[in-house]
Amino acid sequence: MMNVWMCRECGFIYDPAVGDLDSNIKAGTAFEQVSAEWSCPVCYAEKTTFAVLLS
Ligand SMILES: [Zn+2]
Repeated sequence: MMNVWMCRECGFIYDPAVGDLDSNIKAGTAFEQVSAEWSCPVCYAEKTTFAVLLS
């Protein structure tokens, strides 16, 4: 089971079952596997701004 993560700035949810198609991150990609260069697609916060929402 992969963790769901949330942006602490804007509340955007990163769901690994969905990925982030706008950033070419395929469905099924765990947050841990997302590039450190990735940022929130809504508010552009750094990846480190995200916290685990569900596990
Ligand atoms: Zn955000």
